[in-house]
Amino acid sequence: MILILIPDTRPDSPEYKQLLAHLANLPGISSRVHTEVGIEKSLTEVYLIGNTKALSVEEISSLPCVERVVRVSEEYRVLGRHKNDDRPTHFDYNGVRFGQDTLNVFAGLCAVDSLEHVEMMMKALRDHNQVCTRMGAYKPRTSPYSFQGHGKSCLPYVFDLAGKYGIKVIAMEITHESHVEEIRDALYQTGNPTGVMLQIGTRNTQNFELLKIVGRQQDFPVLIKRGFGITLDESLNAAEYLASEGNRKVIFGLRGMKTNMGDPHRNFVDFAHVSVVRRLTRMPVCIDPSHSVGARTASPDGILDIMHVTAQGIIEGANMVLVDFHPVPSKALVDGPQAMLIKELPHFLEDIGIAREAYIQRAALAERYQQV
Ligand code: PEP
Ligand code: MN
Repeated sequence: MILILIPDTRPDSPEYKQLLAHLANLPGISSRVHTEVGIEKSLTEVYLIGNTKALSVEEISSLPCVERVVRVSEEYRVLGRHKNDDRPTHFDYNGVRFGQDTLNVFAGLCAVDSLEHVEMMMKALRDHNQVCTRMGAYKPRTSPYSFQGHGKSCLPYVFDLAGKYGIKVIAMEITHESHVEEIRDALYQTGNPTGVMLQIGTRNTQNFELLKIVGRQQDFPVLIKRGFGITLDESLNAAEYLASEGNRKVIFGLRGMKTNMGDPHRNFVDFAHVSVVRRLTRMPVCIDPSHSVGARTASPDGILDIMHVTAQGIIEGANMVLVDFHPVPSKALVDGPQAMLIKELPHFLEDIGIAREAYIQRAALAERYQQV
């Protein structure tokens, strides 16, 4: 059961103390408080954990400070959608809105290799009015002998350049808790010129200890990729780990499933699950066409497979696209074969615009038919 309190309830008010005292006396029930301090107001939710079936919604609703009560199913308590649950499906970070009603493109380098390539990429993004990118510094690789990413040594120039080109959010995978500190330090040292969205890669989707640590910090939002060999339910539970520790700024990423059934694509494209995740949870949904398709192959119409699957995800309502670009793919140290060329960026963005417009029209059409 979730108690949504009246906005701006003060933790030192007598009514609030009275509420907590009442809850503390409920037998077999513990409560966890989550407060989100926004620019305009602060919102507090109290989660009741334990056997809440015996509690009456009416009775709990009448307690001081309580605006309304949502009875939740056991699954995905924090991030899930529940009956009569109109809690927000978006969050703001560093001036950018991420929601089930928005679309953000994160085009960039799979792995940072040189300052020159980072600058070429960010300049192109600025020239095409983009404020988000992807820049991998810590790369989990199949072989221990492959390039592992430049790590913290590249962060200062990546963040400086982001500031120079107006980039507000950089998606960056972390594979260890120490990376969060390194990112925080580098941002501080460079004067916080940009923001970072921490990325939990598919290989770490069920690294529960990492999830708990990343969930406990609330400075950075988190993009969690679906695990490539586990069920959707297992991956959604992994996302819930982040939220249950306190961080609700979570985006769920589809990136294809590992099976030969998807051949000749690198992974079996799973973007039909965009609408499923949007239905089951309040998370914005990201698609990663690059890691799903894994190649620059094109169909007879001249459209890259990567662009086709991107359009498929967007026409279904995807909210974020994480996609690999590289100025010189043949020189990329990671995933060159799936990188798009910088000169393809305007084509890609325009194609996305068509798919998004089609989605908006489809949603309006569905609304019209629901009214008849
Ligand atoms: C990536 O986005 O760079 C990446 C390694 O993705 P995934 O975890 O989906 O393989
Ligand atoms: Mn990659």
